[in-house]
Amino acid sequence: MTAVHVPGTPVIEEGQLVSTSPATGTEAGRLPIASDAEVRQSVDRARAAGEWWVGLGFTGRRDRLLRWRALLAKRIEQLAELVHVEGGKPVADAIVEIVTAIEHIDWAARNAGRVLGPRRVRSRLILAEFSGHLEYQPHGVVGVIGPWNYPVFTPIGSAAYALAAGNAVVLKPSEYTPAVGQWLVDSFAEVVPEHPVFTAVHGLGDVGAALCRSGVDKVAFTGSTATARKVMAACAETLTPVLIEGGGKDAMIVDSDADLDAAAEACVWGGMTNAGQTCIGIERVYAVDSVFDAFVDRVVARAGRLTVGPEGSDIGPITMPRQIDVIRRHIDAAIDSGGRAVLGGPSAVQPPYVHPTVLVDVPEESAAVQEETFGPTLTISRVRDADEAVTRANALPYGLGGSVFGRRRAVAIARRLRSGMASVNSTLTFAGMSTLPFGGVGDSGFGRIHGEDGLREFGRAKAITRRRARSLLPSMTFERTPTDVARLVKAIKVMYGR
Ligand code: NDP
Repeated sequence: MTAVHVPGTPVIEEGQLVSTSPATGTEAGRLPIASDAEVRQSVDRARAAGEWWVGLGFTGRRDRLLRWRALLAKRIEQLAELVHVEGGKPVADAIVEIVTAIEHIDWAARNAGRVLGPRRVRSRLILAEFSGHLEYQPHGVVGVIGPWNYPVFTPIGSAAYALAAGNAVVLKPSEYTPAVGQWLVDSFAEVVPEHPVFTAVHGLGDVGAALCRSGVDKVAFTGSTATARKVMAACAETLTPVLIEGGGKDAMIVDSDADLDAAAEACVWGGMTNAGQTCIGIERVYAVDSVFDAFVDRVVARAGRLTVGPEGSDIGPITMPRQIDVIRRHIDAAIDSGGRAVLGGPSAVQPPYVHPTVLVDVPEESAAVQEETFGPTLTISRVRDADEAVTRANALPYGLGGSVFGRRRAVAIARRLRSGMASVNSTLTFAGMSTLPFGGVGDSGFGRIHGEDGLREFGRAKAITRRRARSLLPSMTFERTPTDVARLVKAIKVMYGR
């Protein structure tokens, strides 16, 4: 790991994908790029491995997955260092990310049998002579395509649940973080050495596209909404089902009875952790008029204390060099349209870093409010009341997460947010609660990872009816008589006709 490249820009050298530290340009990883044929071979091998994996049953898979999570826990510092070097985020943020992923592996492993395993389902009077049976069978091979911003948490959010459900998984990590992806599959292979149940293919976007067309039985995609459209189009060719975890522009609402210190602390964390490169990061804040000024003061004071730099800082470099242009454009657009920077501003953009920036009085039409910025920036807007805050928060096509600070009305407001998730009096916390589903609406995608819904996402419902007695009112047979039909009509009027 000595060669120095343009910081953060992956390069291809002799068929290898070379990832680099966005802070220093030091080489972080070097992985072979998979051809289309190799992607297909990986999927074929995974299919055979998956059959063996299914044969382990829920208990056998739980044991292996728990051993994997133990390995991650034991080596957490090593993995965190790699995440830090390859993606740029502070080590402490990497630790938090990995802890969350470990929790998800643990929960998925322990609960897959209960949620997906065979069970009896109550029948109803209309078919009382049959018993009902339900189970969720694995799809086969799940292709997981992941982004760079949470290179452990996002793939594991799909992969751990897919594996627990009995699928094999082929992962295509982001070209910015292939070494982290490879670390994950290598560590899994230590506890499942028999067959390639969880493997990775590396390369640029075309390798992700090849994975979509490789014959996988489901694709779990996490990334931008623009790429999600391409993934869906590719999967449509073969009717391959997809799960889309897309982008976001999450809003936080600060109501008049909020604890403003707590709100400011959570807002700065939710907006600026991982340098704001968080799908569920807070990017827009709507604070009601009566608390607006006091809230902005508190946010500026806290955000102004954050340190920025390569090592030991609160905020690391922007991982993707071209994202800096987006962040700069949004800050400029906010200022040009009449907004004010009460912290940071255009001068905060110092590649590869962006210093905390807080913008107020920004018109809603501005790109800074409308588009995903993915930087340590916040817009804070003054609203008349919580109703106006909800209306504005819900005005974008995105709908991933959100946050509400307040007392009396906070939960009611959270329920009205057009989003898949919301946290009351905190930010981002729903991502770490393995018992809750995670996913968005609208341009933020569909389908769910995490929790019981996340397990069911990776199994297909298999319904079985079994006769347990002779039919008293035979109807689904050509042996029925007019009398049977007449009795059926009479019964149905008694049962449902009132
Ligand atoms: P991208 O959409 O650029 O890339 C995501 C993944 O898709 C990468 O592995 C990428 O490979 C791959 N890819 C690129 N082109 C194709 C294609 N045509 N077919 C198949 N796969 C392809 O997203 P980013 O990596 O930039 O991640 C940031 C985005 O992810 C943000 O919008 C963020 O909000 C979102 N995100 C959503 C989350 C959620 O849970 N909803 C969680 C985390 C992030 P390569 O990198 O090689 O181009």
